[in-house]
Amino acid sequence: MSSVSSFADLGLAEPLLRALDQAGYKTPTPIQTQAIPEVLKGGDLLAAAQTGTGKTAGFTLPILQRLTDRPAPERKPGRPRALILTPTRELAAQVHDSVRTYGRHLSLKSMTIFGGVNMNPQIKALRGPMDIVVATPGRLLDHANQKTIDLSGIEILVLDEADRMLDMGFIRDIRRLIGLMPKQRQNLMFSATFSGEIRTLAATLLNKPAEVDVAPRNTAAETVRQTVHLVESSRKRELLSHLIRSNDWGQVLVFTRTKHGANRLAQKLTQDGVPSEAIHGNKSQAARTKALKQFKTGAVPVLVATDIAARGLDIDQLPQVVNFELPNVPEDYVHRIGRTGRAGSVGAALSLVDGEEMKLLKGIERLIQRPIERIETDGFATPKPAANDGNGQRRGGKPGGDARNGKPRQSRGGKPGGNRGGGQGRAAQGNRAARSR
Ligand code: AMP
Repeated sequence: MSSVSSFADLGLAEPLLRALDQAGYKTPTPIQTQAIPEVLKGGDLLAAAQTGTGKTAGFTLPILQRLTDRPAPERKPGRPRALILTPTRELAAQVHDSVRTYGRHLSLKSMTIFGGVNMNPQIKALRGPMDIVVATPGRLLDHANQKTIDLSGIEILVLDEADRMLDMGFIRDIRRLIGLMPKQRQNLMFSATFSGEIRTLAATLLNKPAEVDVAPRNTAAETVRQTVHLVESSRKRELLSHLIRSNDWGQVLVFTRTKHGANRLAQKLTQDGVPSEAIHGNKSQAARTKALKQFKTGAVPVLVATDIAARGLDIDQLPQVVNFELPNVPEDYVHRIGRTGRAGSVGAALSLVDGEEMKLLKGIERLIQRPIERIETDGFATPKPAANDGNGQRRGGKPGGDARNGKPRQSRGGKPGGNRGGGQGRAAQGNRAARSR
């Protein structure tokens, strides 16, 4: 395998090679090198690969090729041949972009199906021929129940970010959907980790899968020094500037919840004398590429990103990640800090947490099953507990992570004590991620 140096060596056909060339991809990434030949062979696949590894092309390219190589036995309206399931609508849209990019010289039809938008355009699209559907499970099941989609022709099924789909409680929907598909089909499962639950799912779903593991990722908890700094939200930026300067951080990826927040923070940090760029979906591809390049070369030491924007970024092994705000979904925390401390290198992930975020912090600590060390900086007092008591509203998948092991004492680190909620003051801002299901 190590001698493979081009996409052509992997056995991809000319129209795909041309599309890759146009996309500017010269060399396959490790997941692509390993997964593409396996998928082309037609067998099942279990792959451990995170976002940023190039996994999307790793399954999209060979699927496009297989569908083209073997013309549809029966091409009926609303009866796709390949189905890619993703946990969020953002990811569905992103994967669909890849399908379109790599399939531009082929005549396959594709679409996305996800919730939160009107069903009618989806129904209309399903009245025509359809080869590839990229969908979130819930809305797809609605279509299946209404018989606006026919899954009896599925030849290839992909579960992308299967670990997240499990965390978000999609397993029953997925099993129902699978019940509507033919038994004879190719199954591909991608997951950031091979947890026990993933193994169990794989055992029931996959048939003698080839296994590919590109980033034998220790649990982030072991290779990443995770810390929490409690600080009032109004002082977060000042603290961040101070930390970047006093620690001489040369490359730091900072996460915010919103695009607007990312822009504002990058601007303010730059004004503070810390050159920063923001990267998010509203920016043109050219602007994003430029910002990324400046960050990678070290010209700009700080990149501020939203979760969604960061998902498509080809950067990892960063020395330092900062959560300027905690994500609403605890799993996103794990994804964020996975950007650092890979492959044996030691990384650091610092979260700036205000009183309102204590509840989110506890959810994260429950998920990773350990308390996160608190640190302090002279001159930056810890915040007072949030005045409100939360409103019981919980978003973001399996509520509060996994409470099974019942170790509540782990939250002892919560300096502000007594905070029994809060954290939802800005729920409205972050609900997009949850709604996308
Ligand atoms: P993914 O892990 O699939 O989300 O891909 C991460 C990013 O890498 C995406 O922005 C892709 O466009 C990009 N990418 C995928 N494959 C390659 C490649 N072979 N060379 C350069 N960039 C790639």
